[in-house]
Amino acid sequence: MQAFYADHFVLPLPAGHRFPMPKYQLLRERLAGELPGVRLGQAPAASDGELALVHAPAYIEAIAHGTLPVLAQREIGFPWSPAMAERARRSVGATVMAARIALGLVPGVRPEGLAANLAGGTHHAYAGKGGGFCVFNDAAVAARLMQAEWARRHRQARQPLQVAVIDLDVHQGNGTASIFTSDASVFTLSLHGEKNFPFRKEASDLDVELPDGCLDAPYLQALEHALDELDRRFEPGLVLFLAGADPYEGDRLGRLSLSFDGLEARDRRVFDWAWQRRIPLAFSMAGGYGNNIDETVQVQVNTYRVALEYWRRWQSAG
Ligand SMILES: [Zn+2]
Repeated sequence: MQAFYADHFVLPLPAGHRFPMPKYQLLRERLAGELPGVRLGQAPAASDGELALVHAPAYIEAIAHGTLPVLAQREIGFPWSPAMAERARRSVGATVMAARIALGLVPGVRPEGLAANLAGGTHHAYAGKGGGFCVFNDAAVAARLMQAEWARRHRQARQPLQVAVIDLDVHQGNGTASIFTSDASVFTLSLHGEKNFPFRKEASDLDVELPDGCLDAPYLQALEHALDELDRRFEPGLVLFLAGADPYEGDRLGRLSLSFDGLEARDRRVFDWAWQRRIPLAFSMAGGYGNNIDETVQVQVNTYRVALEYWRRWQSAG
């Protein structure tokens, strides 16, 4: 299974900054050591034109040239640097490549059904502004770009590629919801903590709010209902899955109480749901802020282990 990383673009953060930058490298090292079935590749950078499928040209330019106002930088939570801009582009490029490979839009390569981004899931980014550690919205750009590439490949198709964003990061995918608010070809589903950031939420196509301290069983039941409703309302040709590790009980920002097993069951349910319907799926890591960062990385490694099972099913099904 192909997976893309960009952790060698380390953006300089001030001492004591609360963003856990080392988790990206830790995840790559653990995958390389423990899951040889994951083929790690360097993420390409998304171009201005690709970003402009979602983002306002003035915002893209401000990020590229470091002219973003201080307040807007503060809302993102990262100080601007050339590495910050480069990393943001590559994080989008990783999800784009994963989606292409899953869908089979890479010339000469057959569809693999599943592929991944070791980062991404930057769902708090809007068309014209960033927020909450998110600069550009990787899932949104990938959705629009895959629709364009898919339309070129399938010229006879009567309707655009339908994309479902299944956002299971513990925070609401407010940027994604806003970007696709009047776009019927992209279905946005967000399961998130009711009392958590962002405090002004947007309307996704389907929002499921969970109370503080939510345990495995009610969470999985809520997910089941959400997938049922998604089934009733939408027929995706591509799923973009944000497998956030922050609903984990040991997360310092999550406020929910999912166990390792609960999160693994969650991931399995999503991979299985897509596999049963033979819907190609690209997934990203989204948030994870464990008190112990090794536990966040463990949740993510578990996601990859389950994904590999389903990737093998795709390959043996031809
Ligand atoms: Zn989050």
